[in-house]
Amino acid sequence: MLENILIIGNGGRENSLAWAIQKNDLVKKVYLIPGNAGSERINKCERLKINIDNKNELVEKLEFLKIDLIVIGPEIPLANGLADFLREKGFKVFGPGQDGAKLEYSKSWAKKFMNDANIPTANFWKVNSLEEAKKIIDSSLVPLVVKADGLASGKGVFIPDSKDECFKAAKSIFNGKFGNSGNVVVLEEKIQGPEVSVFALCDGKKYILLPTAQDHKRLNENDKGPNTGGMGAYSPAPLLTEHLLKRIIKEIIEPTIIELNRKNIDYKGVIYFGLMITKSGPKVIEYNCRFGDPECQTIMPLMDQNFVFLLEKCSMGNLTGDEKINTFDKVSGCVIATSKGYPNEYKTGFPINLGKIDPSDCQIFDSGTSLSKNGELLTNGGRVLSIVCQDKDFDMAFEKVYKNLKEIHFDGIYFRNDIGHQVRKKFSKGK
Ligand code: AMP
Repeated sequence: MLENILIIGNGGRENSLAWAIQKNDLVKKVYLIPGNAGSERINKCERLKINIDNKNELVEKLEFLKIDLIVIGPEIPLANGLADFLREKGFKVFGPGQDGAKLEYSKSWAKKFMNDANIPTANFWKVNSLEEAKKIIDSSLVPLVVKADGLASGKGVFIPDSKDECFKAAKSIFNGKFGNSGNVVVLEEKIQGPEVSVFALCDGKKYILLPTAQDHKRLNENDKGPNTGGMGAYSPAPLLTEHLLKRIIKEIIEPTIIELNRKNIDYKGVIYFGLMITKSGPKVIEYNCRFGDPECQTIMPLMDQNFVFLLEKCSMGNLTGDEKINTFDKVSGCVIATSKGYPNEYKTGFPINLGKIDPSDCQIFDSGTSLSKNGELLTNGGRVLSIVCQDKDFDMAFEKVYKNLKEIHFDGIYFRNDIGHQVRKKFSKGK
């Protein structure tokens, strides 16, 4: 039975998962806890007002609703062991347990994991104090990157230009910038090359790959400015040729699954591989234990109605590994509309006018929105809307995205005009 699905999370990622899941005729209802103001614009979707930390109420409600499959979107509930708890209560869950989520919630653990399995990654030093960090920074012959060990909402990585900046970054982390997430610091050799995201749906033993994607993390055009949660993405990433992907599978993906097994971690969920293609080959920058945002919004429209079966198979441990993923022979592009000031301070509560959106192969997934008392759509986050379109090529897909963006208005709307510049043939600066 796959009639009632529950998705946990409140962003564009969860709305795009809901959108892809509801395509299947067997699915009658997709519930979101808590979802956002855009969730109920999606067919079959309903938001539930339940606090996931109130475990008894949660289980009671899920049993009452006869939930057949639970998909956990964000990393924090995964790191807190929500998937373990719900599996113990007898639910089918797509999402790793606390042991698997450690790939994301402890960078030093993930680095050791990679070393144990001989998986290519930048050299690193785990440090427990500022004195220790200073010694390594002073004696290092290569530029370093500084990372808080624990979860930091994507903000825990510093790429300093000098030893002095490096020291300051380590100091700010040890001084509590990220709370307990910064009790340990990872110093890493700075490596170079284009970045690409690979997602593997995993059932504990077998896996299948989703279409590849590339995102744009920097706030401003020409990939300048501060890092953000993501300003846009495209899929698939042509940078990943068949040859390169084969190498990534052999050197990175399969050794990861084998090492998880060796460590007795029954990983049922998605593994995100953040990779850098360096001169000496692909290296892992980081693992995530969940779908990337906005890569997920970009990839989901390429999935056919069987997507929910893949999630269910992962949750039950019966993936064959030969399942086909339908991508409709199309490419997909996504641009994020953000609030003025993001990723620093920004105001919320501005009315959003969606205008006359061209709906053909285009989706608007709300990332950070709310509804006013009289039902008006309001901004409610730094990243507000994900505008996604598919077409035969990237020029056509992004043309539709930007045409739709012209229709959308809210106070202080900001987006990059050059998302996908690497793959848009017609792209020229200032267009
Ligand atoms: P992370 O949160 O670990 O993915 O890091 C955020 C971003 O920092 C990555 O997408 C990279 O652009 C950059 N980064 C992380 N680690 C390194 C590294 N060792 N060398 C160069 N850039 C890095």
